[in-house]
Amino acid sequence: MEQGVLFQIDCDGNRIEPGKAALRGSTISVLGPIPLPLDLCEAHIDVSWYACVRNTELGKIEELAADLRAQNGQQSFATLASYMAVNSVMIVGDPATWTKPMVRVHSSCLTGDVFGSQRCECGPQMRTALERIQSDDEGGMLIYMAGHEGRGIGLWAKAATYLLQDAGEDTYQANRSLGLPDDSRDFSDAASLLKFFAPQLPLRLLTNNPKKVDDLKQFGIKDITRVKHVTGVTDSNRRYLSAKQDWGHELAPEDIGSD
Ligand SMILES: [Zn+2]
Repeated sequence: MEQGVLFQIDCDGNRIEPGKAALRGSTISVLGPIPLPLDLCEAHIDVSWYACVRNTELGKIEELAADLRAQNGQQSFATLASYMAVNSVMIVGDPATWTKPMVRVHSSCLTGDVFGSQRCECGPQMRTALERIQSDDEGGMLIYMAGHEGRGIGLWAKAATYLLQDAGEDTYQANRSLGLPDDSRDFSDAASLLKFFAPQLPLRLLTNNPKKVDDLKQFGIKDITRVKHVTGVTDSNRRYLSAKQDWGHELAPEDIGSD
């Protein structure tokens, strides 16, 4: 905290003075900047990484962890810690020079981002977003939302939806079959982080999903220009993309091609 690399922001994106309480809403602890050299297939990108976690969750998790540590030792703590909803902010370029930075708010997808699964286009979308931000004159930021797996239903349920999809349901029907919402992602922390890292600035948001723009607007990010972000279309995910298109994603027929 003394070095200023661990601090808190409120839901409006204001930095909270040490020892002071937030005026309203939940607070987010931020740790960074941490230099992170990224090697992505073709490109090398140096980003400043910030780890960000909502304090209510951090408190609850620490409390639970203390209980578990007393009873079962370190192993349970590791299990619990792996589920912590720690979001990441990656800054490319110098925020002091930004007038309309390029931004990607990326929902975590273990299978796509890490394993390279082609059932969705998340991996290529994340990498291409960083490359586009890097080659942009202004630069910008990528916010990686750790709790957004499977549009908010979590990895376990997402695995089940994959089986339902293979039995003929589309990605949204499969959620409903499990009694889960089509999309339960919470963008409030993403909005707070945007307000902190790009205060009052208009944004260029890399997404095909108008609902994501609306969600962020609801949390006070008013000036957003949507920038189309189509990449990673393959035979394996064409059906998935066409379900997204039916659901409201702005994809042209030529973007996803045909079967
Ligand atoms: Zn994915």
